[in-house]
Amino acid sequence: MIPGDWPLKSQDCDLIGFLSSIFDHQLTVEENSKIEYNLAKMEEFNTELEHNELQSAYLIIREETDCKVCHTKLGHKKIRIYPHGMAFHMRCAKNPSECPITKQRFDIDAILSSNMNDLGDL
Ligand SMILES: [Zn+2]
Repeated sequence: MIPGDWPLKSQDCDLIGFLSSIFDHQLTVEENSKIEYNLAKMEEFNTELEHNELQSAYLIIREETDCKVCHTKLGHKKIRIYPHGMAFHMRCAKNPSECPITKQRFDIDAILSSNMNDLGDL
């Protein structure tokens, strides 16, 4: 029985104290390492995701390939690679959905509308 006139705040404090005593003392080593393992897994997964996103945005290459826009070596700079296989410096290819040389478009809208045109021709 909890007396009705107990202030709610002190109950909260007791709850927090109770919970923290569990975390501090009552988890076994095994339980702790399980939690750590899962956290590490999550971290790994997030890093992998981030890595993939970065890779799709740009790659760093060490090829002696010329950038077709400024005609200097791609070298160690950040480059952008387009789906049709051409690569340019990030600063030379500012629009990720249009090749600066062939003007080929890679954004979803262009692909959709070109499909629409194909259908129209039929
Ligand atoms: Zn360039």
